Amino acid sequence: MNPLFADMPTTIFEAMSGAARASGAVNLGQGFPDFGWPEDVIARAAEALIRGSNQYPPMRGLPELREAVAAHYARHQGLAVDPARVIVTSGATEALASSLLALIAPGDEVVLIQPLYDAYLPLVLRAGGVPRLVRLTPPDWRITEEALASAFTERTRLVLFNNPHNPTARLFGTDELALLAAAAGRSGALILSDEVWEHLFFGRPGFSSIAGLPDMAERVVKIGSAGKIFSMTGWKVGWIVAPPALAEPIAKAHQFVTFTTPPNLQAGAAYGLGKPRSYFDSMRAGFAAARDAMREKLGAAGYEVLASEGTYFLCVDLTASGIALDDASFCRRAVAEAGVAAIPLSAFYAEDPVTNVVRLCYAKKAETIDAGIAALAKARGLFAG
Ligand code: PMP
Repeated sequence: MNPLFADMPTTIFEAMSGAARASGAVNLGQGFPDFGWPEDVIARAAEALIRGSNQYPPMRGLPELREAVAAHYARHQGLAVDPARVIVTSGATEALASSLLALIAPGDEVVLIQPLYDAYLPLVLRAGGVPRLVRLTPPDWRITEEALASAFTERTRLVLFNNPHNPTARLFGTDELALLAAAAGRSGALILSDEVWEHLFFGRPGFSSIAGLPDMAERVVKIGSAGKIFSMTGWKVGWIVAPPALAEPIAKAHQFVTFTTPPNLQAGAAYGLGKPRSYFDSMRAGFAAARDAMREKLGAAGYEVLASEGTYFLCVDLTASGIALDDASFCRRAVAEAGVAAIPLSAFYAEDPVTNVVRLCYAKKAETIDAGIAALAKARGLFAG
């Protein structure tokens, strides 16, 4: 057995969702919406399932989806993308795996920003990468020049970046993107930019991809996910936009990871990406309203809430909320004793974790949020010292 996987615990998301299912607790842990999805996107996929082909689609994806991804990024992010540079994958997870397998050789250093999405570290290690960690801390989780300077070396091959950022809910500023781009440029490193939350940002007129910075088009591999854009996390349709020289090896890795992705879901995603701007604006407005409602009700229940600039999440500072438990103990006891599942931020650190912050998901119906807050109020009553 490979010791990397043999010794690995099940992900915190599965563990907390399992605990919530077993005890009937409200699940504010794992990031999935508990409400509907765009019916027209489903209808397009259903039509393709019944009337279209159910055989292997082209290895790099249906032309209609590759063209839709390119047009979508031109319209929404001002990026000039040639559809030839798009590779369709089975979710962003496969996009990450195929990109890492193709872009790093054993011994290459990879800069990772922690807290980090849980798939990153095992995928980097499995590809033979040597992680170099940049540690962000609450309440502002800012990327600083000093932190970057100590992580980059002349052996840095790649930076694995995520913006908007899960789990901190940060939308990194253009100043931080510029720092990262400059550090990568000095080391001659590529940037693998996981932008699955690109339509879930608040308080700014648009989302700026690091791929749009000057001179970055040839250095950035951008990843997106229909599951996140259309609130259908089970779909597992993602894509990679890569410079031509990098698209070739990535496509070769992809062909032996999954080879292709269900064509009917690709057709649905292609249709959905072409929906009018008003669809994306109103989706964002709905999530912003859920975030505001959760923030306000948590505040009324005595919790100190950190800023949420994007994603489906907001974080709570336990210490500032008068709770002396560490995050993992809080989450374990909250699900068992108060009936609500949350995610401890320490699970997103590879070393030297922040241990007093928990992540909550607001991509939920109003009644789910209300039931979750009632249980969190009970938890605070039990645990606040
Ligand atoms: N990257 C990040 C930062 C995520 O939050 C997620 C999903 N939670 C993924 C990748 C995985 O996306 P997919 O379901 O499309 O594989």
